[in-house]
Amino acid sequence: MKRVFSGIQPSGVITLGNYLGALKHFVDLQHDYESLFCIVDQHAVTVPQNPETLKDNKRKLASLYLAAGIDPNKSIIFNQSEVPAHAQLGWMMQCIAYIGELERMTQFKDKSEGKNGVSAALLTYPPLMAADILLYNTDVVPVGDDQRQHLELTRTLAERFNRQYAEIFTVPETVVLGKRIMSLQQPEKKMSKSDENQKAFISMLDDEKTITKKIKSAVTDSDNLIRYDEDNKKAVSNLLTIYSILSGKEISQLEADYEGKGYGAFKTDLAEVAVEALRPIQARFKELYESDEVDRILDAGADRANEIAIPMLQKAEQAMGLLRD
Ligand code: ATP
Ligand code: MG
Repeated sequence: MKRVFSGIQPSGVITLGNYLGALKHFVDLQHDYESLFCIVDQHAVTVPQNPETLKDNKRKLASLYLAAGIDPNKSIIFNQSEVPAHAQLGWMMQCIAYIGELERMTQFKDKSEGKNGVSAALLTYPPLMAADILLYNTDVVPVGDDQRQHLELTRTLAERFNRQYAEIFTVPETVVLGKRIMSLQQPEKKMSKSDENQKAFISMLDDEKTITKKIKSAVTDSDNLIRYDEDNKKAVSNLLTIYSILSGKEISQLEADYEGKGYGAFKTDLAEVAVEALRPIQARFKELYESDEVDRILDAGADRANEIAIPMLQKAEQAMGLLRD
């Protein structure tokens, strides 16, 4: 069976964008692949995190993975920092990555722009991500479209290591999942859980009132027409995308349904669809978050991940000359 690896950062509570663009697809993929879904906490700390909040966000993410339908009997769910081989191979990947390559990454540019005290790790994030993936001989990496560039670098680093040292890494294939979901406030930017503006995203744990308020205050445009046009009506097109995925209705069907109706009616219905879609996940989340089942699943997940990762790390160390004969 081919292997899938993917991760989400506990850099906040995951958004509807993370769910529609990643997590929802993970649930389907686990039936056809041996799957590892990681809580990449070491990536989250490349920007400042409050330690208590980080711990809580990790637990929330684990609970949401499970609540969304990831089956711990099929898939491995684990915390990155509980498998030390990630950081160890991450270092080795930094040693073969070039600064120029890392500076070209748009995520680095976006997250460092205008900031003081940008961490060195924000720059070296992609080699750690390469390590995450390569440790498991991953065949397929399913990610949102914003991660395409990082995945390309992972492939480059795998090929470079294989060429310079020994052919030990599987060069993974990237599968870009659903459409990029955009910010509700600045539709030219993607929706991100670390956005400082809370109104820009819907969190998977937002209550009914908050979801409704955020959708109602989402920016639109002035022509009051519900029509998909990514070039001229970015905001409305994004809302139509969200509505379509959540309801299972084609965008053309939605355009027909809302012909002659204004943004008000459209947003009211979209809010209802979003609330209904999240309701069962939130109910299951609550049970899990408050139980110790999550801890047991994470312990078992880390054990299984370590079993795969440690021998692979040793192979890489052997190839690089880091192991004593
Ligand atoms: P941060 O702002 O901290 O980077 P994020 O919301 O971008 O958080 P990540 O943890 O970086 O989330 O990404 C987790 C997964 O979700 C990745 O596969 C990524 O491609 C996907 N993803 C993130 N944002 C979106 C989005 N707006 N639409 C679709 N997929 C997304
Ligand atoms: Mg991100």
